[in-house]
Amino acid sequence: MSAYTFIDHTYDVVVVGAGGSGLRATLGMAEQGLRTACVTKVFPTRSHTVAAQGGIAASLGNMGPDSWQWHMYDTVKGSDWLGDTDAMEYLARSAPAAVYELEHYGVPFSRTESGKIYQRPFGGHTTEFGEGPPVQRTCAAADRTGHAILHTLYGRSLKEKAEFYIEYFAIDLIMAEDGSCQGVLAWKLDDGTLHRFNAKMVVLATGGYGRAYFSATSAHTCTGDGGGMVARQGLPLQDMEFVQFHPTGIYGSGCLITEGARGEGGYLTNSEGERFMERYAPTYKDLASRDVVSRCMTIEIREGRGVGPNKDHIYLNLNHLPPEALHERLPGISESAKIFAGVDVTKAPIPVLPTVHYNMGGIPTNYWGEVLNPTAENPDAILPGLMAVGEAGCASVHGANRLGSNSLIDLVVFGRAAAIRAGEVVNPKEPNRPLNPASVEKAVSRFDALRDAAGDIATAELRDTMQRTMQSDAAVFRTDKSLAEGVEKMKAVADQMARIKVTDRSLIWNSDLMETLELTNLMPNALATIVAAEARKESRGAHAHEDYPDRDDANWRKHSLAVVGEDNSVTLAYRPVHLDPLTAHDEGGIDLKKIAPKARVY
Ligand SMILES: Cc1cc2nc3c(=O)[nH]c(=O)nc-3n(C[C@H](O)[C@H](O)[C@H](O)COP(=O)(O)OP(=O)(O)OC[C@H]3O[C@@H](n4cnc5c(N)ncnc54)[C@H](O)[C@@H]3O)c2cc1C
Repeated sequence: MSAYTFIDHTYDVVVVGAGGSGLRATLGMAEQGLRTACVTKVFPTRSHTVAAQGGIAASLGNMGPDSWQWHMYDTVKGSDWLGDTDAMEYLARSAPAAVYELEHYGVPFSRTESGKIYQRPFGGHTTEFGEGPPVQRTCAAADRTGHAILHTLYGRSLKEKAEFYIEYFAIDLIMAEDGSCQGVLAWKLDDGTLHRFNAKMVVLATGGYGRAYFSATSAHTCTGDGGGMVARQGLPLQDMEFVQFHPTGIYGSGCLITEGARGEGGYLTNSEGERFMERYAPTYKDLASRDVVSRCMTIEIREGRGVGPNKDHIYLNLNHLPPEALHERLPGISESAKIFAGVDVTKAPIPVLPTVHYNMGGIPTNYWGEVLNPTAENPDAILPGLMAVGEAGCASVHGANRLGSNSLIDLVVFGRAAAIRAGEVVNPKEPNRPLNPASVEKAVSRFDALRDAAGDIATAELRDTMQRTMQSDAAVFRTDKSLAEGVEKMKAVADQMARIKVTDRSLIWNSDLMETLELTNLMPNALATIVAAEARKESRGAHAHEDYPDRDDANWRKHSLAVVGEDNSVTLAYRPVHLDPLTAHDEGGIDLKKIAPKARVY
């Protein structure tokens, strides 16, 4: 056994992550009387959710007619028919109650004249099953919705006596001999101690892995740690080939300008001053879904109609909108445009470029957040003791492409669902099982090996190579050639982990070691992404394959599962998409005919 003295903790539930999903799960678990700890590598209100600007989707119908069936239809179509029908129904149906719950918890939503929650239009959100005009479905607290939600949920979790372990880095899961999960090993960053958390349920709420790419809107902390931990246990990651590029990252910095800017009336133009989206998406124009808008922008640039000296970006115009409206509805992005592009949005357009924004793929779960370990006999088999929620998970409600404002609602709906489920399966009266020493030892040895790593490649250097490879070879548009080359390059990059060099050997505030641990998590996420992308011979949602421009439902309407081996090999398998809704049509559920696959035009 290693030389560390461990500090031990025993809980009913340990939630790893304190973003919107982690906090909603933590709050729900604590409310049910489960002894709950939340372990987080950053202070809760610094989680990436704090940066969410635009808002949270729910069919409240405050600004005109809306229904959960229309929201569900838009989600199904947005997913390009890859989402699981039961999970998408659960999301759309539970959304209004989840938003009212946030309101009652104290989220300071913007208001309409009559005092109701203000809602703005967002891309891909429509009425009448895609036949009617755009709908105002996205509930907003100005352009700081994530900020408002995070602060409220953190306060409420403290009130419910959830216990927080802040600036603790979760290294690895602890697995019992029978293969179930029973805890997590964490490193306390400010004093260097190692902590063994024993729990009857571990919930991974670690967020996305945007930082596998060079230019991303996500925080530097979005390193797919949950996915890394799961991959190291030989468990699969699902639908990793689907990476969302947001149309409007600020050119150069990648900092996000919310889709709410287009929701409030902003539009894109090319070098000829043309509002080109009218050509590609005659009905919904600049409010077509994100994958569509990102591709159109890329085509404009490729065909020589980009703006700027190098004709390599696009303009987002807001300067026609009344300054008071910008001030009231979009104060944060006005500030970002000033700081990161030097632009006064009331006078000039913002230079923008499609930028990596969201990971549709992640740890496979059912709509209760329970992690799946699919077998040939049972593609929906669960792994006892482990849940995943938020961007780290894949329920799957976003399928091949997520609609704007559908992530924040996913965080609270599935954070809440996980808590309800844990209330059923976790027995607070039962004693915790003793931790499996072999599993703890394995995690500690990995940690030690990295701490002592004396190779010849610095972490920052290898990370940069990985990010540039992913950026160029798993991009908005993909080809057989770019993907095949990308797979080879990424395997070579991942193999170089063996040559990593960590210069700081201490245990206190060792950012070198922490970034190295993060790189060991980014790597399997990146590998799974590019290998699954190379295998998928069709175009669907965010996966735009130039050699296979059409969606192929007969062969490819299935979830990919990628298992990343210790030798960086990736083994692919597939599981069927859930086609059945939760509730039959004659019992008030969705009419399946309404959501049957068809061409996806906006
Ligand atoms: C700039 C931006 C704007 C967005 N705007 C919107 C929007 O308007 N509407 C919308 O619906 N979606 C939006 N999204 C998407 C959405 O905000 C994210 O998908 C969502 O916030 C992710 O939440 P999460 O709870 O999964 O994780 P995060 O908020 O990313 O939190 C992850 C948590 O995990 C913890 N963690 C991670 N690894 C470890 C580890 N190893 N040990 C301990 N703790 C760990 C972190 O400390 C953190 O607390 C936006 C995203 C970005 C980047």
